[in-house]
Amino acid sequence: MIKVCKFGGTSMADGTTMLRVKRIVEADPARRYVVVSAPGKRYGGDEKVTDLLYETASDVKERGHVGDAYARVAARFSGIVRELGLRLDISALLKETARKIEEEKSEEFTASRGEYLTARIMAELLGVPFVDARDAVKFRGASLDEEETDRLLKETFSRYERAVIAGFYGEDEAGSIRTFSRGGSDISGALAARAAGADLYENWTDVSGFLACDPRIVPEAVGIPSLSYRELRELSYMGANVMHSETIFPVREANIPIAIKNTFRPEDPGTLILPASRCKKDGRVVTGIAGKKSFAVILLEKSHMNEEIGFTCRVLEVFARHNISFEHMPSGIDTMSFVIDSAYLKEGVFEQLRDEIREAVSPDRIEIADNIALLAVVGHGMSDNVGTSARLFGCIRDARVNVRMIDQGSSELNIIVGVENDSYERAVRAVYDEFFGR
Ligand code: ASP
Repeated sequence: MIKVCKFGGTSMADGTTMLRVKRIVEADPARRYVVVSAPGKRYGGDEKVTDLLYETASDVKERGHVGDAYARVAARFSGIVRELGLRLDISALLKETARKIEEEKSEEFTASRGEYLTARIMAELLGVPFVDARDAVKFRGASLDEEETDRLLKETFSRYERAVIAGFYGEDEAGSIRTFSRGGSDISGALAARAAGADLYENWTDVSGFLACDPRIVPEAVGIPSLSYRELRELSYMGANVMHSETIFPVREANIPIAIKNTFRPEDPGTLILPASRCKKDGRVVTGIAGKKSFAVILLEKSHMNEEIGFTCRVLEVFARHNISFEHMPSGIDTMSFVIDSAYLKEGVFEQLRDEIREAVSPDRIEIADNIALLAVVGHGMSDNVGTSARLFGCIRDARVNVRMIDQGSSELNIIVGVENDSYERAVRAVYDEFFGR
C-alpha cells in the first residue's frame, strides 16, 4: 500500500504544525511520499511565505537585491528550524538562497524557494531523503511536460522508499525554474501519486473536506463524505476552493482516490473523491452547491439564427480576438447568450465587442446583463430523481429570487442558475435548505 500525502501551507505554518505532520506521516507506514507547500498563515492577518517571496521578486527587480520581505521569509524559516531543534544550517541555506535569488532575477525561481526550503526542513524532520522538484518535474516552456515528469518521478520513487518532495515548481528545458499557478502544490502531489502508483492521494489541509456549500453563507453546512472526480471538478471550478481545480487530472487517469483530510483534526472523516462508478448511491440528490459572483451575460437575438451556418463561430471569433474566454453558452432557437467573467469588460470593452459582433453577424438585438452570479447545483443523483429542477426552482422562487439564466449543460451533473449578485446568498441559502436542510 502506498499513500502520497500533500500538506498545504497551514500545515507547514510553524514548527508545531510540522510536528503534527510528522505524527500523521509516521502513524501510517503507507505514507511514503510527502509533498509540501510553503508556510502559510499562522493566524488571521499573518503573511504567506509565497506572497513574501513574490514581494522579494519585485524588490530584486526594482533594486537589484532582496529586502525586507526576504528578511521576513528568513525569520519564518529560522524560527521553524529553531523551534524544531534541527541541525540543518538554515542561516547558510538562507544566505545561499538570497544570493541565487539575486543572481537568477526570476519571479518563478524566487516564488519556488518557499517550497524548496520547506521540503528541506521537512525531510530533515522526518529523516528521509529530500527530492528537489527541479530534478523530477519538467516543464516545456510554461507548460508541464507530463510524460517526462512521470518518467523521472517513477525513477525517483524506484530509488527512494520514502521521500519529501517540494511542491509547486519544476524546471524547464533551459534549466530555469517554472511554477504552477497559485496553489499548485496540489498538482505536484497528484503527479507524484500517479507516478508512485499510489493507492490513495491524501491532500492534507485545514478543513475537514468539502462542505455542501460555502460556510460563510450557510455556517452549518454539512460535509460531503464522498464525491466523484467530475463532481469535484464542477464544484472546484465554480469556487469551492479546497483544492487546485487542475489537481484531479493525473489521479483520475490512474483511478487513484483522493482523500481530503484536516491536519488539525486528523480523526475527522474528510472527503473521499472517487471515480463515479465507485461512489455509493446513497440517495443524495444534490452533492454540493458552489458559485461565483460577477459575471456578465451577453445576449444575442436574431430571427432564424438556427439556420445560419457559422453564426456561433463568427461570434466566438470576436471573443477570441479580444482574448476573452466564455464560461457558458445557453442558447435558444433565435437567441444565444454568452456568460463571461465581468473582469474582461473594463472600459469600453463591451461597446467594442458589441460593434464587432454587429458587424460579424448582424443580430436583431444585443444586450448585456452585468452583475450576475452563477450558482451551480452539482450531483450525479439529480439525473435519476424526478422533480429535482421543480424543487430547485420552487425554492428559489420561494426565496423571491429572480432567475436570470439557466444552463443545465449536457451531463445532467450540474444545473447552473444565474441570479443577480445581490440575491446570490439568498439563493444559496434556499437551495441548501431545500436539499440538505431536512
Ligand atoms: N505556495 C504556493 C502558493 O501559495 C503553492 C501552494 O501552496 O500550493 O500558491
